[in-house]
Amino acid sequence: MRAITLSNTTLSSRTDYPAPSPREGEVLVRVLRAGVCETDLQLIKGYMGFSGVLGHEFVGIAESGKFKGQRVVGEINCSCWACPTCEAGAPSHCPNRTVLGILNHDGAFADYIAVPQKNLHVVPDGMPTDVAVFTEPVAAAFQIPAQMTIHRHDRIVVLGDGRLGNLCAQVLAHLSKDVTLVGKHQEKLALLGRRRDIKTALLNDFPAKRDVDIVVDCTGSPTGLPTALKVVAPRGTIVLKTTVAGEQTLALAPVVIDEVTILGSRCGPFDRALTALDTDEVDVLPMISARYSLDQGVAALEHARTKPSLKVLIDVES
Ligand SMILES: [Zn+2]
Ligand SMILES: [Zn+2]
Repeated sequence: MRAITLSNTTLSSRTDYPAPSPREGEVLVRVLRAGVCETDLQLIKGYMGFSGVLGHEFVGIAESGKFKGQRVVGEINCSCWACPTCEAGAPSHCPNRTVLGILNHDGAFADYIAVPQKNLHVVPDGMPTDVAVFTEPVAAAFQIPAQMTIHRHDRIVVLGDGRLGNLCAQVLAHLSKDVTLVGKHQEKLALLGRRRDIKTALLNDFPAKRDVDIVVDCTGSPTGLPTALKVVAPRGTIVLKTTVAGEQTLALAPVVIDEVTILGSRCGPFDRALTALDTDEVDVLPMISARYSLDQGVAALEHARTKPSLKVLIDVES
């Protein structure tokens, strides 16, 4: 089959890659559409030392199992369901897990991907495939209200005008009446123009007044957390949504003095994300910047790496 593979930071477009043989509990999914994510770009730089087929955001058709013949999306953590962490109800933290396209499991930039049946969710009938491919990042945004209570009057700032920042701002604006997306790119901030409930500001113009109750760092940059510390109010919360490869040095005394809570936040609820996409709670189509065929998958990743873009899609089968 065709596949975009990574081996020691070398990307290849293959036509002779062996189709996955599903492990116990897994079903084969024929991929229709996949999305390029910032994590894919980090993996290419060597993050996690991943080798194999890239890609973890996808929509496909289940070839077997109880959803056979239906369009599905899949959660990315493949957990063992037998260890104490899984039994305690935190399978996304399973120490034995593999992760689609990220850790010891081939991903979705290919004609086929093997996915645990348990991970699959059926895509609602009327939902365009281009919308459904955003389920994984929208779910990640919904992890924030799953982890903490958001109040109507909370002043919220989302740092980073990329795809995840955009989605977090959209999700949080349904819960708080005071959400501001802060970024460096006027054209990316403008994409939220139709959402009158979200304010936008350029980073250089945004005052560091230390009066923000919740700061969400979606910058993917080592500068995100220090910036968040400059704007968060005493007893406020900083939510870290993006992983930054490498180590970071910063003064943590303000965290103690101001009793700031720092909350890490990763994968979220797919059911909630599908409902939000189905009812237009979040608007995703304006974020599609480019699309490539699977044969041009290497060019798709190159586009995402080098050109300003919010979402690059790979049409595996159109
Ligand atoms: Zn991703
Ligand atoms: Zn487990």
